[in-house]
Amino acid sequence: MRSHLLNDTTAEHYRRSVTEGVERVAAKLAATDRPFTGVTVDALAPRIERIDLDTPLHDTAAVLDELEDVYLRDAIYFHHPRYLAHLNCPVVVPAVLAEAILTAVNSSLDTWDQSAGGTLIERKLVDWTTERIGLGPAADGVFTSGGTQSNLQALLLAREEAKTEVLADLRVFASEASHFSVKKSAKLLGLSEDAVVSVPVDQDKRMQTLALARELERCEQDGLVPMAVVATAGTTDFGSIDPLTEIAELCDRYGTWMHVDAAYGCGLLASLKHRHRLTGIERADSVTVDYHKSFFQPVSSSAVLVRDARTLRHATYHAEYLNPRRMVQERIPNQVDKSLQTTRRFDALKLWVTLRVMGADGVGQLFDEVCDLAAEGWKLLAADPRYDVVVEPTLSTLVFRHIPAGVTDPTEIDRANLYARKALFASGEAIVAGTKVNGRHYLKFTLLNPETTIGDIAAVLDLIAGHAEQYLGESLDRAS
Ligand SMILES: *Cc1c(COP(=O)(O)O)cnc(C)c1O
Repeated sequence: MRSHLLNDTTAEHYRRSVTEGVERVAAKLAATDRPFTGVTVDALAPRIERIDLDTPLHDTAAVLDELEDVYLRDAIYFHHPRYLAHLNCPVVVPAVLAEAILTAVNSSLDTWDQSAGGTLIERKLVDWTTERIGLGPAADGVFTSGGTQSNLQALLLAREEAKTEVLADLRVFASEASHFSVKKSAKLLGLSEDAVVSVPVDQDKRMQTLALARELERCEQDGLVPMAVVATAGTTDFGSIDPLTEIAELCDRYGTWMHVDAAYGCGLLASLKHRHRLTGIERADSVTVDYHKSFFQPVSSSAVLVRDARTLRHATYHAEYLNPRRMVQERIPNQVDKSLQTTRRFDALKLWVTLRVMGADGVGQLFDEVCDLAAEGWKLLAADPRYDVVVEPTLSTLVFRHIPAGVTDPTEIDRANLYARKALFASGEAIVAGTKVNGRHYLKFTLLNPETTIGDIAAVLDLIAGHAEQYLGESLDRAS
């Protein structure tokens, strides 16, 4: 069994195994003609169920064959141009190369004595990001497992910096289009059930700052404490960006922590054309970025950045077995002092290799391409009488719904759209997402693949219309 340990004597086994895996995936990528096979849970579950984990195959090729059957064949492939559903990007090769390296070396970024150079590479990327945001010379941050964790950590810091220790008095303001991790964080942080105040959005799905001002005023009048405002730079549903500068003004006025959730919109930090859409982000106290959404990085790659490095002390605990206090005096850089995690992947390496191979402009150009595609797609939808489209995109998301000719009952339209989404998924020909707008069912394209063309968008719209018409035809038959 020792032959399976990765070490100096097993280099050949390592090379052969990984190469075999890479070959399979490369062949798979070349052969996928749709994002999904359409397999059902009922069809797949027994194939996985019947594998006896206590009876190993002892043979890599056989295991890879089996993996084809239980995973690779029916996986959802984000690189396919007709995968248009959630905030998943196709990944760039330099990042995948880095992933293979970081897994094999297996550094853990908690302490210097487990990661040496990795610690400095991560710190340099944090500095690179805070400079792009414009957070100033005292800024810092740390890589996290994702936007959810970044938001949680940012709100933890905000809670600790708040002007009261009475948790029940704290309020967090976020738009009604903000990510659910804000509410989840509030719960984990022990805030009261009604701590997150939902601020209405305008017709472009941006936080209404007049309403925010009213809510902040009311909060103070009620003797409560505004702990943080969460501005979203790229809402998950619409890609809309809250008015960051106006929100920063209000945060200044009320002495409130400003957190910008740029999990999605962070791609603009590298954009050659649209960086100005993030103006105001430089005034944040903390920022969430998800490189695994708009920097074409594999999951996970995310960071939380802060204006004032000292605020990260709220996540600092010392342990004799890991990061004793004296190490701070000795100036040993232990990233665990800033993180909610202890053992932590060297995810930063993926962004490092990406920037060193492609450059930030290369990444920004890819993100610009999908933003431009969304703008084109919006025109197509707006001109198509079969569709109602919600907001002109700021990033790369399109929210729309099929309006079948001659159908006026909104419930029936809801059903037709729901049916179309499901039927499309089952066909595997394309994958789209769905959401609700003003209580009605809509469909959503999240465009993150520069290989997707306007022709793909047109073709998928035809498929959706076809499925919806089929549903309505059948429902007419049922009625008669
Ligand atoms: C995706 C997303 C998150 C959550 O990020 P994860 O990486 O999925 O944990 C938070 N906020 C926004 C706006 C998002 O789009």
